[in-house]
Amino acid sequence: MRPDCYILRFGEMMLKGKNRKRFEDSVMKQIRKVLSGWPDARYILEFGRVYVELGDQTAYEGAPAHLQRVFGLASYSPAYHASMDVEAIQAKALQIMQALPTKPATFKVTVRRVNKAFPLDSQQMNYHVGGYVLEGMPGLNVDVRNPEVELRVEIREDRVLLYAEVIPGAGGFPAGTNGRALLMLSGGIDSPVAGWMALRKGLAIEAIHFHSYPYTSERAKEKVMELAHQLAGYTNQIKLHLVPFTEVQTSIHGAYKDNLLVTLIRRAMYRIAEKIAEREGLGALVTGESLGQVASQTLPSLQAIGRAVTLPLLQPLIMMDKQSIIEHAEAIGTFPISILPYEDCCSLFLPPSPSTNPNLRVVERIEDAMTFLPELLDKAVQETETITIVHGKWKPNEESHAHLF
Ligand code: ATP
Ligand code: MG
Repeated sequence: MRPDCYILRFGEMMLKGKNRKRFEDSVMKQIRKVLSGWPDARYILEFGRVYVELGDQTAYEGAPAHLQRVFGLASYSPAYHASMDVEAIQAKALQIMQALPTKPATFKVTVRRVNKAFPLDSQQMNYHVGGYVLEGMPGLNVDVRNPEVELRVEIREDRVLLYAEVIPGAGGFPAGTNGRALLMLSGGIDSPVAGWMALRKGLAIEAIHFHSYPYTSERAKEKVMELAHQLAGYTNQIKLHLVPFTEVQTSIHGAYKDNLLVTLIRRAMYRIAEKIAEREGLGALVTGESLGQVASQTLPSLQAIGRAVTLPLLQPLIMMDKQSIIEHAEAIGTFPISILPYEDCCSLFLPPSPSTNPNLRVVERIEDAMTFLPELLDKAVQETETITIVHGKWKPNEESHAHLF
């Protein structure tokens, strides 16, 4: 059954405090963006809620999936209109209950009467609507304490609204309301999920990717652009900094080839990322590390690598299992892109047995001897290319990006 409108509910933190207006504006902006396929949509904003009428000619089916890209949205309900009339309300209530995707065993009706001119009060209406539905659906029972479905009827001044489903939204904080951070985006499965989590927490993100052309292919870079594009769907657009990392990597490898190589290379990456974050005014680095996943993600490795920078390091996946990370990647649409086969710069020059227990002092001593390093890091920053990927406006293999390769 096609709903007449959707009722969208904001997250709890948005209902109070002086940030309310800013939060509401941010969520509204994102709602309009994800529903831009419905140009005739009407939005009515009321304290803590938005009523969206998508317009007559449009198919409603796609809308719920789009709403999952709005952070700060606690839940939403497909809702139905009825005229200001007891029989019409009863008939609509029964229709809604019969059309539910799964048949409940129990329900209750909750009527809220705002319009005091309506002849029956809430209690009387509960009784009339509940009784009518029970009659029409043999086997259904009322459970006022713990019903499987709560059918709500709102008798408002100008219309009657009914709804029975409350679908969880994406939750989190509205886009960009919790500061700005730099996502270290590889072509792997993990870092896009970390980026999505940062966005969900209300961080505005820019992304940084290190490539080692010609050791890594042009397709590897394009894959990362595709991942950034997928993430941009949750926030509109993402600035992507593409760092030429070949010279840093080969120079470090030229001077040192033993089991601390990965630690040294990753510290160089973090340092470059920090420089770019500071240049762009971003307050943290977000990465996709998960404790114990590989040699560079043991506690001593995380320590030795993290100590290269002073910005807060946000590692949202740190305690998560791989399986759960994969499930997230599937849900947010990055998984099929991440598993494309193109190689990552980190798989270059791997020592046969990377240290799982690097000693920070030793690492620092080796770095001190690499006097060429500071200048090379600055050069990589200077030669970094920045592109802006706007959701819906970027397509893989587009001519306009050919110059980047
Ligand atoms: P991912 O699946 O995100 O690639 P991973 O499990 O393969 O992660 P590593 O390769 O050790 O782990 O990388 C750890 C984190 O470092 C990544 O999650 C990402 O945030 C960052 N990182 C790794 N390679 C790059 C790269 N080429 N460009 C930017 N960031 C990177
Ligand atoms: Mg990786």
